[in-house]
Amino acid sequence: SIKTKPVLEMQGIKKTFNGFIALHDVNITVYPGEVHALMGENGAGKSTLMKILAGAYIADAGEIRIDGKAVKMTDPAQARDLGIAIIYQELNLAPNLTVAENIFMGSELKKGGTFLDQEEMRRKASEVLKNLDANFEAGDLVSTLSIAEQQQVEIARALKHNSRILVMDEPTAALSDRETDKLFEVVRRLRNEGIAIIYISHRMAEIYALADRVSVIRDGGYIGSLEKHEISAERLVEMMVGR
Ligand code: ADP
Ligand code: MG
Repeated sequence: SIKTKPVLEMQGIKKTFNGFIALHDVNITVYPGEVHALMGENGAGKSTLMKILAGAYIADAGEIRIDGKAVKMTDPAQARDLGIAIIYQELNLAPNLTVAENIFMGSELKKGGTFLDQEEMRRKASEVLKNLDANFEAGDLVSTLSIAEQQQVEIARALKHNSRILVMDEPTAALSDRETDKLFEVVRRLRNEGIAIIYISHRMAEIYALADRVSVIRDGGYIGSLEKHEISAERLVEMMVGR
């Protein structure tokens, strides 16, 4: 992945909330087909940075480039159209709608001017779910699914939108070991398909298992990045908490 061009560059990102500096001069460069871990202690600014990328917050300063081209990220729909998907810690699905409806929500429910019918929507949703090895049906209500299954719906939705950058914000926090293993399999498969995954975690074992690179922020500031061969718990802890 080193030889390819970055799919995403965020440079000099600054964000304040009522005078409180949540991020200052943060940089991150992400390549296609890599799992890029984003680390930092609670309150470091990880989620805020990703909300800026997803168009949920607007940065006070800095530049975002997708495929080398500067973009202005002003709302979530725009981020989505640029191929960015984010799976929040608090999942973002409509519980009383079906899996298929959630996957297609806010997207082209229309084809050739006519709305897709339920059957066609479910058929298309089923295809994506099959690729994810999901154990539930496109017609199931989201409210009947486990957290891990709801995450799969979010991933399916990202794939449906042809997302090229997938952000996962502490995705294993509520998962069992088995569910975590299954998620890791999916993450690796997406990486192999060339999707860039920004993976937020503070669990060292997950970083070892998944990360191709790590970037660290501390107190809203960018500390640095490590390549896979440079990653060690000692170094990461030092970067995260400082000495
Ligand atoms: P992390 O995800 O690394 O734990 P966050 O990005 O959630 O950290 O938060 C970074 C800092 O910004 C924290 O001090 C948090 O309280 C503050 N913050 C985040 N979002 C808001 C907001 N909407 N309003 C005010 N302060 C916020
Ligand atoms: Mg967070």
